[in-house]
Amino acid sequence: MFTNSQILFDRARQVIPGGVNSPVRAFKSVGGSPIFMKSAKGAYMYDADGNAYIDYINSWGPMILGHAYEPVLKAIQEYAAYSTSFGAPTELEIKMAELIISMVPNIDMVRMVNSGTEACMSALRVARGFTGRNKFIKFEGNYHGHADSFLVSAGSGVATLDIQSIPGVTQAVANDTLTAPYNNLPAVQQLIADHPDSIAAIIVEPVAGNMGCILPQAGFLEGLRALCDEHGILLILDEVMTGFRLARGGAQERLNIKADLVTFGKIIGGGMPVGAFAGRREIMEWVAPVGKVYQAGTLSGNPIAMIAGYTMLSTLDNNPGIYEELEQKATYLVDGLKKVFTEAGIVHQVNQLGSMMSVHFAEYPIIDFSAAAGANNELFKRFFHAMLERGVYLPPSAFESWFLCNALTQEDLDKTIAAAKESIAVIA
Ligand code: PLP
Repeated sequence: MFTNSQILFDRARQVIPGGVNSPVRAFKSVGGSPIFMKSAKGAYMYDADGNAYIDYINSWGPMILGHAYEPVLKAIQEYAAYSTSFGAPTELEIKMAELIISMVPNIDMVRMVNSGTEACMSALRVARGFTGRNKFIKFEGNYHGHADSFLVSAGSGVATLDIQSIPGVTQAVANDTLTAPYNNLPAVQQLIADHPDSIAAIIVEPVAGNMGCILPQAGFLEGLRALCDEHGILLILDEVMTGFRLARGGAQERLNIKADLVTFGKIIGGGMPVGAFAGRREIMEWVAPVGKVYQAGTLSGNPIAMIAGYTMLSTLDNNPGIYEELEQKATYLVDGLKKVFTEAGIVHQVNQLGSMMSVHFAEYPIIDFSAAAGANNELFKRFFHAMLERGVYLPPSAFESWFLCNALTQEDLDKTIAAAKESIAVIA
């Protein structure tokens, strides 16, 4: 069934570390060999052996409208005739910034970068420049990209591979990263009390998607906002996953929370490598060349990436009903899966907000990293492989969110629920 993928993986391992260009693709936590993909359309991906999968990763979030979305493909093809890169400003970059600002609350200026990592790393630098302080707080199991200072107690691949201390990240850098459990305000209060006047920022995933999908409990984000206001700390909402996914205005709109700086990635590139950070004018004007916080990128604002992202965001902007449709699909799937697990007597927690969701096999609520880590991840592995064999492609780790796309049909959702029923019957 996976012969060609296996051949490709054997070849890849000779020339690419682990055979993959990003660790979570490697199936390390679920075991087995990664599936090599060849094409994708709508809610489906097709592998090198011709197998079809209903895709619940959607490139880890960007393909909110499904794979190979025609208007994005067309825009890329048309624009490529002008240039693939100028290294000079274009009107398209202004249109992109204007569009983002019109959709997202509380931001006056945007700087485009090439990935979510760059967005978070740059936002933190700006926060440090603006406040004149060095330390920052992040949450265990949150992932803000692979810049050195964020790799302390990180989620996603770091959690999947269970790496406690990362060679190459110096202790000096790690010392400025303070960590607290997600959803734990008293722990944050304590860190602030222990490090008076030295914390530049609190960075948080407003809905955590890198330890499975974990929702902020009532009052958590509001509490962070209040603490930041009280202590002159900037609140950075990492909306790389939640931006343009939970709502047109991201988590700020959906959860009614106000950020000082926001980071974006995923959807804003329409599948191309793009990120951005944004905030109020008084903060963003610290960025070079207006201010002295240096930040740059040869390919930042790349025209092909901009036209893909602009087309994607315009579609979302012009069709706000998409969010309701997506949420209905996710809720239908969540209800269907819960029924399957309950009928089979399997303890489970299915967390969901909008079109982000995840399954943990546990009897207690999953509200932070230690809860996620304590779930029955052995069962998740078996579930993952059983679903894969039945043509459903889930994230190959319990420490990742599922992302739904709007190309999913009722039939796809019913097929997925039926596959879950068969899978559970085989593995439980
Ligand atoms: N922030 C969050 C919340 C993410 O989920 C990710 C990646 O998954 C990043 C930042 C880093 O983005 P990238 O992989 O584009 O560097």
